[in-house]
Amino acid sequence: MNFEWTDEQQAFRRKLVDFLAANLPEDWEEFSKHGPASPALTEFARGFCRKLAENGMLFPHWPKDIGGEGLGPWEQQILAEVMWEYGEPRGGQYMNVNWIGPTMLKYGTEGQKAKYLPQISAGEMLWCQGFSEPNSGSDLASLRTRAELEGDHYKVNGQKIWTSYAGLADTCFLLTRTSDDRKKGITILLVPMDTPGITVRQIPSLIGEGDIHEVFFDDVIVPVGQRFGEEGQAWEIIGYSLTNERLGIPRYHLAREALDRAVGILKAEGEFTRETVKAEAARCAALCEAARTAIYAIVQKRVDGGTVGPESSSARYATVQAERAVGEFVVEYVPEALAGQSAFLQMHHQRGIVAGIASGAAEIQLNIIASDVLQLPREPR
Ligand SMILES: Cc1cc2nc3c(=O)[nH]c(=O)nc-3n(C[C@H](O)[C@H](O)[C@H](O)COP(=O)(O)OP(=O)(O)OC[C@H]3O[C@@H](n4cnc5c(N)ncnc54)[C@H](O)[C@@H]3O)c2cc1C
Repeated sequence: MNFEWTDEQQAFRRKLVDFLAANLPEDWEEFSKHGPASPALTEFARGFCRKLAENGMLFPHWPKDIGGEGLGPWEQQILAEVMWEYGEPRGGQYMNVNWIGPTMLKYGTEGQKAKYLPQISAGEMLWCQGFSEPNSGSDLASLRTRAELEGDHYKVNGQKIWTSYAGLADTCFLLTRTSDDRKKGITILLVPMDTPGITVRQIPSLIGEGDIHEVFFDDVIVPVGQRFGEEGQAWEIIGYSLTNERLGIPRYHLAREALDRAVGILKAEGEFTRETVKAEAARCAALCEAARTAIYAIVQKRVDGGTVGPESSSARYATVQAERAVGEFVVEYVPEALAGQSAFLQMHHQRGIVAGIASGAAEIQLNIIASDVLQLPREPR
């Protein structure tokens, strides 16, 4: 396996960095410190993503006939690394690249593709992910938001929670229960967020402005044509979506960038001298690079046309370890950076707190590794 970037890939990374230099405002680091969901960043992202799309950099890895540039998974990874390194100027639209777009391509009807793909690839659509409920997070198959079929539409009643971007999203990728079968009774509906009967309440949180929400559905009418996949097919579809989601944010790269900045501050202050500090920094760097290697192996598997399996859970767990270790390093050795000295480190710290929860809890990844990689017996239910 060769991990050197090709000349073309290095040129692609430089092109992205140059684009950001030309298109981000001067106070960008301060502006973006409230995270990709803040109303200001969401608004900025709508224009920014349109420009990225016009310049072939929103979906460079997609085929040309659907709005891409025909590049590959490595360019998708480079794109993710550069965008997150700069505070994710795509706002919540990074989800379109990570899992909504791929899921739409794989499972959407021709009508749904014709409706949504042009908007997604033009950078004009913000989605939210309506999966978790108050008593159904890790145990997602227990979800209870009900969709009753009534002639040509479903009537939806229930509640979602922790829904990122819901306050400003155009459409919700919603999991509903259409029968009592735990997994085969779950169905996906694509629901415009301005449909009557939907109420969104923001949940104040540490991780950034406008990030997470409760979403209530009271007699929400959704036409049958807005069903995504067959009735009961959701579990299969989201298996694919969640594998993509788990790997989507390059947390190893963010963590490494945060570590380098923290070490930079310590060096500038003449404080990077104690052996214990250096050893801890080295441990963090090793964790970041181990996670990077695990992710890169998966990217290569995609390039080779392979199907990504439980190794996505191993890679995700490795990134959580890296992100947590760097977070602790910053708190221990450069706490002043979190009190205003570095907007980037503040942002990294806030998001690092939830690294092992969002996109599926770290312990659940361990369960998957135990059963699917180590072939240990599953936990009894
Ligand atoms: C910042 C953020 C953004 C989010 N955005 C979204 C979103 O956009 N859409 C969405 O649908 N959801 C979203 N979520 C929700 C997220 O998917 C859930 O928080 C996650 O799946 C965990 O579910 P839970 O919160 O109900 O915790 P629980 O499932 O109750 O877990 C609580 C703790 O118990 C542990 N645990 C639970 N079950 C087991 C088990 N079987 N074995 C071992 N340990 C276990 C967990 O690891 C965890 O530590 C978001 C969460 C966060 C923090």
